[in-house]
Order: sequence, then C-alpha cells, then structure tokens
Amino acid sequence: MDLTTSDLELVRENEKFEDDKEKGLTFHCELYDTEIARKLAQSFLPGLSTACVDNTTGDMFRNPGSVAADIRKEMVDYLTQRSERFVAESVVLGGDLVSDHPYDIISNMVDDFASLKLNLFSRVSGWLLSEKREDKIDDFVQEMEISGFWLLDRREAVAQILVKNVDFKNIFHCDKKFNTAEELAEHVVNCGFRTMNCTNEGCSTVFCASHLEKHDSACPFKIIPCEQQCSENIMRREMDRHCITVCRMKIVSCPFYAVGCQSTMPHFRIQQHCSDNLLSHLLYTLKTIHKGGSEEDLKKRVDQIVELVWLVMGELHDEIHFDHGTPTAMQYTSSSGGLADARDARSLILKVKDVEAKLGPLEVKVAEKVSEELNKAGENSSEEPIEAFNKGGEQSSEVDKIGSEKSTETINKVGEELSSIQV
Ligand SMILES: [Zn+2]
Ligand SMILES: [Zn+2]
Ligand SMILES: [Zn+2]
Ligand SMILES: [Zn+2]
Repeated sequence: MDLTTSDLELVRENEKFEDDKEKGLTFHCELYDTEIARKLAQSFLPGLSTACVDNTTGDMFRNPGSVAADIRKEMVDYLTQRSERFVAESVVLGGDLVSDHPYDIISNMVDDFASLKLNLFSRVSGWLLSEKREDKIDDFVQEMEISGFWLLDRREAVAQILVKNVDFKNIFHCDKKFNTAEELAEHVVNCGFRTMNCTNEGCSTVFCASHLEKHDSACPFKIIPCEQQCSENIMRREMDRHCITVCRMKIVSCPFYAVGCQSTMPHFRIQQHCSDNLLSHLLYTLKTIHKGGSEEDLKKRVDQIVELVWLVMGELHDEIHFDHGTPTAMQYTSSSGGLADARDARSLILKVKDVEAKLGPLEVKVAEKVSEELNKAGENSSEEPIEAFNKGGEQSSEVDKIGSEKSTETINKVGEELSSIQV
C-alpha cells in the first residue's frame, strides 16, 4: 500500500477569488460546520474500500491494497469535480434533487464513484449481493484505519471543500468576506461556525457555535432535573435508569400486591399507603391465610387482631381513630408497631399468623353463613353489598370483589354446594 502520497496535494484549491478581488473583499472566513465534515470524512473510507474491493475482486494480480492509492486519487478528483459542477447542474435539473443536504449529496457522489469502479467480474457475477463482499469491504476499511492510510483530518480537509462547493444555501459554511485582516479576525471570534467544546463534564463533543443550543438540549452528559419531578438532578444519560430504579417518584405496586392490594403509587408514598391501609391489608392477608373464609368472619378477625395487638401487645397507641364509631373502620395514622412494620406480604402473613396463634382458631358461623348466602343466591346477586371498610373507598370495592370470588372456594362441603349455586 502506498503511504507516501500526501492527500492534501490531491485537494485542489478551488476558491474563486477573482470577483471578490475586484471588490477588494480578499479576506474570507474559512469556517465551516465541523460536524458534517467529520461525518462525511468518516464515510470516505467505506466508500473507498467498496471501490477498491469491487475493482479487484476475481482479479488474480491485483488486490484492494494494491489499487488503493490510485483509486483514492481518482475518488478525490471525481468528488471535487462533481461538487464544483453541482450548483450549475442542479440549476439545470431544477427541483429534481432528492435532498439538498450536503451529506446526502456527497454520499450519493461517493456511491456513484464506487459503482464506476466495478470490474467485469463484479458486474456479471452475484458478487454485489454476496455477504462475502460486505465482509471484505469491512475488513479493508479496518486495514486502512490500522495502517493510517488516509487519516481522518486529511479526509476532513477534503470533505470541507466538498461541503463548501455543494452548500449553495450557505447553511454549513461561512461565506463572509472582509476588506481587512482585522475585520476578519473580529468576525472569526463571533462566527456561528467557530468550533466549541461542550462544557458538560464528561462530554468531548465538538460543534459549531450555532449548534450550541441544539447540542445542549440533547447532550447526554448534561445535568438536568428529574423527569419524574423528584427533587434530584441527574445526568441525562442516567435519567432512564434513575427513573426506574432509585427515583422516589417511581410508580410502584403496593408491597401487598401478592395478597390482593392492586394499588399503585409513587415510591415515596408506600409508607403512607401502608399505614393508611393497614386494616385492608390485614383483611387481604387473612383471606390468603383462610381461603374461603367469609368476608364477615374475616372482618371480625381483623377486629380481634387489632384489639389484641392494641390492648394486649400494646403495639398501637393513641394514634388510632374511631371512624363512624365502628371498630372495623379504625384507622392507623402511624406505621409504628409490629403489624405495621411488615414491609411485604410474606412478613405480614408471618406476623398475622403469630398474632392468630394467640387468638385461637378462626370462628366460622357456618349455619348463619349458609342461610345468608343461599338467600343472596336466590336474589341472583353474586356481589356483596359494598361496605366502606377503610378510607380508600375505591379499594373497599376491590376487597369485596375479591372476597366474593374467594368465597366460591369455600373449604367445607356446604361452601362447595353454595358456590355451585352461585355460579
Ligand atoms: Zn465566519
Ligand atoms: Zn455535550
Ligand atoms: Zn427522580
Ligand atoms: Zn396496598
């Protein structure tokens, strides 16, 4: 591979100073959009590799490495000439341009060049569609990168000229001209195309000044307030992870989901939810322990547990309120105490079982229950009347619904008969 050819020599100076000289405007701002030049420069190696591979495939005497230097020269000449003619040609072609973005325009030219270099074998065989071709092109790109055959800054110098040639709307390069060097120098420090480095810690992006806002609004290293409005400030690229892991505003299911509480809430509200809903969580837990137990019996059991814990074990203090004067509507406002300390369904079940061991077996009023349920079945009602059990009204309907579903799994024989009537 020929490494001696200087690429810059291949780049022809195509600045047209003549008109400006007449006006005395000889000092040009040379700044351009470095991002697009960089992006284009990166596309040159795959383009060159494609041309070299397709030009030598099936050839016993030549390989991509042996033709690369010549083909590179041809490619730069081709792109320079096409880009110089571009503005005049596009006027002739009218509105036929697929895209007027310099990157697209020049990429198309690179593709055109590569297809001009197809040898006979490439044209007539199935080579263009073979996977082997893609591999060979990638391999040769790597080979050129490793050997430093065509360095990025040299490719960028070529790309810069091509961009200036096709950018007839002056969107990607500065076209300002000045009478004196002083005027130019004054302009350059404020030119929208001057390069800037991102100041966000960890970011190494370089962009032109006019893109500062655009970059800042997407910079992955910028520290911004949490998208879920918790009080923290997070690096943009860490945001997704923060929001689904440690953010206190993350929406989570109730820790007692496993026993039937379907509530969801921001993470920081869990404690409040659990203390507000301790009684309903207790009922859910009892339904899990005593599958098939009636709503009424289990609610009584909740009262017994609360009483025992309150009176005997001294876990509840003066934070208990009586609502509507009924013990079943008692509310905890504190999360202190043994039962309220349970953080998940499993530990609450264990604690409840503990308390229940002191209470003795669950009393089930079978006879009463049967006649009552049979009456209901006769009325063709599968849902029990909704009784506000705790503060969260929407939850008590959920409690009753689950309760009536569970009651179809009654443990004793009478219960089974009953459920068949209900269904
Ligand atoms: Zn400028
Ligand atoms: Zn940045
Ligand atoms: Zn957050
Ligand atoms: Zn809950």
